Amino acid sequence: MTTTDSKTLVLRNGTLIDGSGAPAAPNIAVVVEGNRITSVGELPGGINLEDTAKVEAIDATGQWIMPGLIDGHCHLSFGMPAVQGYASARGTINPGFSALRAARNAQTILRSGVTSISIPGGTWFIEVGLRDAINAGLVQGPRIYTAGRFIVTYGSIGDYEPSWVGTPEHTLGILANNVSDMITEVRRQTKHGVDFIKLADSTWGDTQTFAKEEMAAVVEEAHRRNARISIHSRGAGSTKAAAEAGVDWIMHADLATEGDLYAVAEAGVRIMPTTTFLFEALEVGKELGRSDEELDIIRRNADNAVTVLETARSLGVKVMCGTDTGNSPVMPYGVLHAHEAEIMVKFGRYTPMEAITAYTKDNAYAVGLEGELGVIEPGKLADILILNADPLEDISVLQGGKHLSAVIKDGRAVDLQAELEPKLEVAFH
Ligand SMILES: [Zn+2]
Repeated sequence: MTTTDSKTLVLRNGTLIDGSGAPAAPNIAVVVEGNRITSVGELPGGINLEDTAKVEAIDATGQWIMPGLIDGHCHLSFGMPAVQGYASARGTINPGFSALRAARNAQTILRSGVTSISIPGGTWFIEVGLRDAINAGLVQGPRIYTAGRFIVTYGSIGDYEPSWVGTPEHTLGILANNVSDMITEVRRQTKHGVDFIKLADSTWGDTQTFAKEEMAAVVEEAHRRNARISIHSRGAGSTKAAAEAGVDWIMHADLATEGDLYAVAEAGVRIMPTTTFLFEALEVGKELGRSDEELDIIRRNADNAVTVLETARSLGVKVMCGTDTGNSPVMPYGVLHAHEAEIMVKFGRYTPMEAITAYTKDNAYAVGLEGELGVIEPGKLADILILNADPLEDISVLQGGKHLSAVIKDGRAVDLQAELEPKLEVAFH
């Protein structure tokens, strides 16, 4: 990190993609004071660029300036990808090790241009702790907005053990098979500081594992305690029910029919298709041990997800972007966070500008900062990227941090030259 926090930061002469959806335009100066953008356009009088004790200027001539990316669906404590010799995912039994691993991966995420992440589920309260440590300045990382363990019923994703074992502390889900237990868990998790509650329906959407009335009861309790609520819902029934029950956003929705999406649109609920994981699993899943049967299911869901993207766009359903990075060995950190944009453009008929707006302004909702973050204009939080290639020309230049020349989070420039130490030879797959 540099010491720009006490200096006025001025980004000069780039082409500005401000995140609002407005056309890209040449820009003279973006000015940042503290962690906020204070001016966009002419350089305000009173700022002397020669006064390097007070002003740090970055020349972005020939480059593109845009808001930091927000990955709306990322996991940090599932133990994936594995560190050789240490237990992962369902077998992770050391919360301390898991927290340190999460902290390391958070740094990798930030350096790839992702300045905020929404985490729909972790183990223990590791992400709550990491969020607080990052906010306290103990560790470098993106802004974190997080749920705790998924609330699950028998048969939901995250309920992996036989019923006589249940859902031990180190697993992703926590069983609550009736409304009373669900409400108790909402109260427990909000007491421990989660930002939102994650409900989880079945893994691939073939069964609906929550009744609409149960979802509605959880929504009411979560909202009463100022927490939002999201649901892993792939299936048709659960997606319609979740929209009608008033969840704040629906993750996946890949088996939704046009009728279901109509109900989603009517309710004004957002969806986050998270197709990156499906596409990636189809790409490399076989070599990483996924069975042909499972890959057939994933292909079915991916095919329908493309239809969902198109239909959502035509119905005016707000689509947010998430990748499910960290959910399994196929989803390494720092690599795939921007892939959803390419999928939206390639398969969902979105323009590159629409995909960028989804990743910035619209995704701010998934981190509880809508209206505060994701747009470069005076008064907004200063999370900014400078790219040496045009993402409107080729949306894939956002991927993997390969075209970044600067990452600014909360008004501070991240030192991209400094290698993370120690260097890691982590097997990503
Ligand atoms: Zn996930």
